[in-house]
Amino acid sequence: MNKEIVKLPKIDLHRHLDGSVRVETILDIAKKHNFSLPTNDVNELKKYVQVSPQCRSLSEFLKTFDFFYNFLKFPDVLERIAYESCQDAVEKENVKYLELRFAPPLQTNPEIRFSEEDVLKSILNGIKYAQRDFKIKVGVILCLYRYYNITEEQNLKTLKLAEKYFSSGEVVGIDLAGDESKYSVLLYKKFFDYAKMIGIPITCHAGEAADAKEVLNAIKLGAKRIGHGIHIYEDEEIMKIVKNEGLTLEICLTSNLQTQVVDSIEKHPIKKYYDYGIKITINTDDPSVSNIDLNHELNLAYDVFKFNLDDIKKIILNALESAFISDKEKRNLLEEFNKEFYN
Ligand SMILES: [Zn+2]
Repeated sequence: MNKEIVKLPKIDLHRHLDGSVRVETILDIAKKHNFSLPTNDVNELKKYVQVSPQCRSLSEFLKTFDFFYNFLKFPDVLERIAYESCQDAVEKENVKYLELRFAPPLQTNPEIRFSEEDVLKSILNGIKYAQRDFKIKVGVILCLYRYYNITEEQNLKTLKLAEKYFSSGEVVGIDLAGDESKYSVLLYKKFFDYAKMIGIPITCHAGEAADAKEVLNAIKLGAKRIGHGIHIYEDEEIMKIVKNEGLTLEICLTSNLQTQVVDSIEKHPIKKYYDYGIKITINTDDPSVSNIDLNHELNLAYDVFKFNLDDIKKIILNALESAFISDKEKRNLLEEFNKEFYN
């Protein structure tokens, strides 16, 4: 691991809260809420809730969530995992600005009358305490979901929540996640139109499992950032649009490898996009499930793709530029980053 990279101040724009849960915490929550796990040993448990370094399959990747997903549907748990996720970002990765994303309907719990808004409030509490205790700023992105087990009505609720908490600055943007190979972003046009109308920034998972066209669709509907966008190399015209419109790709290297978006890390188009002049950023996606962190991902870029330290700094500044924060906040962060980059 390159020590200079570890020291750099960083930004992560694409991190899922439910993919950032400490394994020790899963064990703890299971005890507290009387859930059963296949083992009570932390190291053993890692084999179930983290993918192996050899993982090359989306289904293996998604299976890890099954072991703990039901544990997350409680206020104390959500507050805790949000807090710890921010703490880890600061203490282990020197992240100064973090955008955490989740879909509120996935954590509701009718048995305890725990609603979408309660989910958001619990997570915002955890973030508030983390921002009090650590030097980090965190913005929440609420994920709409391509219909799978989330209804249109639930998506609408998420959007309304985003609107309500956008004015206070606690929610900074919306995302569309879920299975893009079955459900095109075009099915969600009305949600995007509404988001544009109220001025809430949009990012969208696209071009990960589906082809380049899905990225173009997301751009047409107003997405300023694209989660992954790996497949745009298939269409030079779309690459041009992404470049010329100054759109941002939220790239997550290890995740792309583990879910088999690319066959091998060497085949990842990240360098091609960077050299082409596309604004790329490097992010973690699901650090706990992937058993990686942002240091690891930036180091991967450095080792495999021969990005030098100046490239890495530029990629971090791309994230700063693309963050869903005000220009004033960007200027303040930039000043802080420049000081740390060049002293
Ligand atoms: Zn993602």
